Amino acid sequence: MGINSMYITGGISAYIICMFSFATCFLISPLKTFFIYLVSLVFFIYGLILNVDTLQVLYSTMVNGLITVILAQIISSLNYASFCKDFLNKKRILESKQMLETVNAKLQEYEKTRTDFFVNISHELRTPLNVIYSAEQMIDNSMKSSNLDRNQINKYFKMIKQNTYRLLRLINNLIDITKIDAASFKIKLINYDIVKTVEDISISVAEFIEHNGITLTFDTEIEEKIIACDPDSIERIILNLLANAVKYGKESGSIFVDIFLEENYVCISIKDTGIGIPEDMCDLIFDRFTQVDTSLKRTNEGSGIGLALVRSLVEMHGGNISVKSKFGEGSEFIIRLPDLRIPENNEKISASILDEKNINRINIEFSDIYL
Ligand code: ADP
Repeated sequence: MGINSMYITGGISAYIICMFSFATCFLISPLKTFFIYLVSLVFFIYGLILNVDTLQVLYSTMVNGLITVILAQIISSLNYASFCKDFLNKKRILESKQMLETVNAKLQEYEKTRTDFFVNISHELRTPLNVIYSAEQMIDNSMKSSNLDRNQINKYFKMIKQNTYRLLRLINNLIDITKIDAASFKIKLINYDIVKTVEDISISVAEFIEHNGITLTFDTEIEEKIIACDPDSIERIILNLLANAVKYGKESGSIFVDIFLEENYVCISIKDTGIGIPEDMCDLIFDRFTQVDTSLKRTNEGSGIGLALVRSLVEMHGGNISVKSKFGEGSEFIIRLPDLRIPENNEKISASILDEKNINRINIEFSDIYL
């Protein structure tokens, strides 16, 4: 550069550029710096031999080169290296700052969800407990008074029972979601008739649903379909979705349960004519603790865990769940389960699932709904 400068422009600008370039060499390791200096020196001397014809010019150029290197050393010792480092790091700092801001925004969002959850869960735990406590007090008072009203007592017992189920459901869901997080929740797959399973569950809750003024229609494209599934989990999934269809249904509305086949999948559709879900919430409702109406004054009870649990259970079967909804008109939840069987020879056609354990489960899953 020095030589070019001298011959082309005759100025010292090239020496200054050289000086600053050399100064940045202190950013790298001493060994590399030494190597760069050495290579530069070889080129410098070679350039001089090629271009310089008088001894005087040769000496003055060498002196200029030497001064350049000495100045570069001085400049770098005057914190030039750290200035260059700062300059080069600025972009990295900016990127890190942006990343931190994104993480911070996510943390704040998470913190808000967590706070909302605790407020909501406290409300969900306290409400049934209050009801149980008040009912117990009323029974106690009735027992003490002389005129014991059996109907009233039965009503209080019913209140205690329903609210105990509500507490049980909430705690079961919390335990299961924690187990899923810890990967300790396992489903037991067996070859089972999914059509009969879903039909039996629908029949078992039909009376309860109709009691709420809602009609339930079951339809199927196939009479029998044996696939690998966990009947307990399937029952939990269907009961959860049916309970939501009632909870978020409208008076004298309808619920349709349909089973049909798609390529490699058995599909179960649960459709209601209820309040529907706003479009921007359709994907979010499967995230835990997410509710369309988060106010404590909302008309329906709930913790926002049900659908998160349903999605996890469906995914454990290798399937998926989606929702189509029109706000104000109704929603349709579609579960797709792989049309597969496991190799074991433990094929079993669903017998009646309406045993006592299942009736209890229905009571638990529908406990958010008051008759
Ligand atoms: P929750 O205990 O609040 O019912 P879920 O996880 O079951 O919790 O549902 C999450 C949210 O999705 C509900 O709070 C409700 O806003 C919405 N949702 C679920 N099912 C329906 C439905 N069938 N119709 C309208 N909204 C629904």
